[in-house]
Amino acid sequence: MTPILASYAQDRWHKAVSSFEDIQSAVNGQIIAQASSSGLDFGGLVQHARSKGGPALRKLNFHQRADMIKKLALYLTERKQTLYDLSFNTGATSRDNLFDIDGGIGTLFAYASMAKKNLPDKYILAEEVETLSRNGTFMGTHILSSLQGVAVHINAYNFPCWGMLEKLAPAIIAGVPVITKPATVTSYVAHAVAQMIVDSGIFPPGAFQFICGSTGDLLDHLEGQDVLSFTGSITTSEKLRNHPIISANAVRFIAERDSLNAAVLGPDISPDMPEFDLFIRAVTQEMTVKAGQKCTAIRRIMVPETIIAEVTTALKARLDRIVVGDPQHEGVTMGPLAGLAQREDVRRHVATLAQESEIVFGDPQHCDPLGASDQSGAFMSPVLLQNLNPHDATSVHHTEAFGPVATIMPYTSLADAASLVKRGEGSLVATLCTYDDNVAAELVASLASFHGRLHILDRECAKESTGHGSPLPALVHGGPGRAGGGEELGGIRGIRHYMQRTALQASPTRLTRLTGRWTIGAQEALRKEHPFRYNFAQLTVGDTIHTQPRTITVQDIEHFAEFTGDTFYAHTDEKAAAANPFFPGRVAHGYLLLSFAAGLFVDPAPGPLLANYGLESLRFLKPVSPGDAIQVRLTVKSKNAAREPHYGEVRWDVELFNQNKETVARYDLLTMSAQPAAA
Ligand code: NDP
Repeated sequence: MTPILASYAQDRWHKAVSSFEDIQSAVNGQIIAQASSSGLDFGGLVQHARSKGGPALRKLNFHQRADMIKKLALYLTERKQTLYDLSFNTGATSRDNLFDIDGGIGTLFAYASMAKKNLPDKYILAEEVETLSRNGTFMGTHILSSLQGVAVHINAYNFPCWGMLEKLAPAIIAGVPVITKPATVTSYVAHAVAQMIVDSGIFPPGAFQFICGSTGDLLDHLEGQDVLSFTGSITTSEKLRNHPIISANAVRFIAERDSLNAAVLGPDISPDMPEFDLFIRAVTQEMTVKAGQKCTAIRRIMVPETIIAEVTTALKARLDRIVVGDPQHEGVTMGPLAGLAQREDVRRHVATLAQESEIVFGDPQHCDPLGASDQSGAFMSPVLLQNLNPHDATSVHHTEAFGPVATIMPYTSLADAASLVKRGEGSLVATLCTYDDNVAAELVASLASFHGRLHILDRECAKESTGHGSPLPALVHGGPGRAGGGEELGGIRGIRHYMQRTALQASPTRLTRLTGRWTIGAQEALRKEHPFRYNFAQLTVGDTIHTQPRTITVQDIEHFAEFTGDTFYAHTDEKAAAANPFFPGRVAHGYLLLSFAAGLFVDPAPGPLLANYGLESLRFLKPVSPGDAIQVRLTVKSKNAAREPHYGEVRWDVELFNQNKETVARYDLLTMSAQPAAA
């Protein structure tokens, strides 16, 4: 019996009884599953996410949510063979699975790690403080707090695992429950991932729901606290963006859609240079990974007109080595498209392109797949087109054939190349292959605003380059204009899309209490003991000591210069220093001040303070001359749980004053303090 893919709604699996859509194997056309969301109460899903999932997630801080994402990554890692096995039916080769399955799980690991490293163990995220008043009693900052709605994720068919997980991780870490809907044609892979997520029991009730089939009236239930994130075609994207509820309720809408990504071979590259071969390899890879069904795939290839013949010949030779066939068959390097309907769609688009361009490699109608039949599977040969008048053509800059298809075209100058790239009206990514600083600078200047990512390829980075086509968790994925205008990933930025930024104005003490981050002018806590005597749990934000003064002498400066070897004239030569517009004469080394500051504020005996691991935001604000007396204020600015349970991270605000109470230096000192058990 054909398996029916259930949806996971309101913490239960729901199997539809009607309106099924058959799902076929891309390899042999057999019906392998059926999907339907009929009978689902879509309003109930949204309500459940808002009333159960959201509150449960918001009870956890960023670190606890990140821990869940890491646990999920480990859980899926142990089960990825099941996903590989299923995925072959989508047409994915083992190499493709690395992008979809390993890439998806890797994104979870990366997000968990970035969140633990860069976010506090708190519920809100506070930004820098702005002073709004002359006496510093009224200040402002921005806080980011979790949206109290639901994240609806609608995904494309090409990356059923990665697409789902790369959207899930930032939303869950932000504290927003997710309703995810995969594209039906490959939903059996997404369904297996969803089943694993549910079976793992890692997320609290209501945090994760899964729709297999259409979204029914789901969008009618969305409001201003919700986010709709979409990947797919321009047509569907427009439908969603213009949905009356989405616009009336100002639902946040993120779109990744058709993108006519370009690769430009710099005019500095000749066939005998390593970049020439790198370019050929990159283009071939982007045309054939996932059978070209990648939002980031290269669709337009721009090369200097003087060497277009050589580039075309080299590309054809490389494409000729691609073996199309059943992905599980030995030696196959490119599988079929996701389905017969998708192949028809690609063929139709190739026909449109071919009205203005010439096919120079491959036959879109015929292919001889290894270990499979061309009739029942959605196999297609890579197709390379050539357009020698790209400025007069329109289809090449507008038509996305979502398969192993690209068009090569000549350019006459860098400005000409840039104007051709821009005809794509905004893309996710472009590769610029050059070994010349000026070419790189000119192309980046003219093309950056048209792209979400620019990949500059040359001999120096090629070996370790992650490639043109791979969106990375730490870097932005998205693009302007035709690419949808959305932005995903990009490290912590991706989490912020699910949070509201609010300006907060109050007294420094109030801001400190609300944000958990001490700010200048806020109350200081002067406790009985030196703050280094308190363990992580005992320390409180605002704990402060003010040190005794220390007078800086000429001997101190000379000793420091001799001892460290820093004999820079400003510290050693009175006349030369006085000629420097910044100094009144010889001044103390900045590093001497830092060292003396430590000497003033440390409490030397062994105790809970374990180590100093750095300084941030260091500024020397006023020169210190021999005879000046410096004094230090040391205050606990913020505390953060560390990855290891036996210590926590403490950030201290350190300010050095002179005898006139003028600030001469300020910085954040980062230390590790023992947790109670280890203290
Ligand atoms: P679609 O836009 O048809 O579908 C994308 C997702 O939207 C699917 O989950 C689909 O569900 C869903 N969907 C379709 N109609 C609606 C609707 N009215 N309301 C709510 N959800 C809807 O794109 P495909 O996945 O079929 O891909 C088609 C094209 O999209 C490709 O040819 C390519 O041009 C582009 N694409 C772009 C990508 C990018 O990131 N730039 C990535 C992938 C594709 P269902 O499957 O059930 O119809």
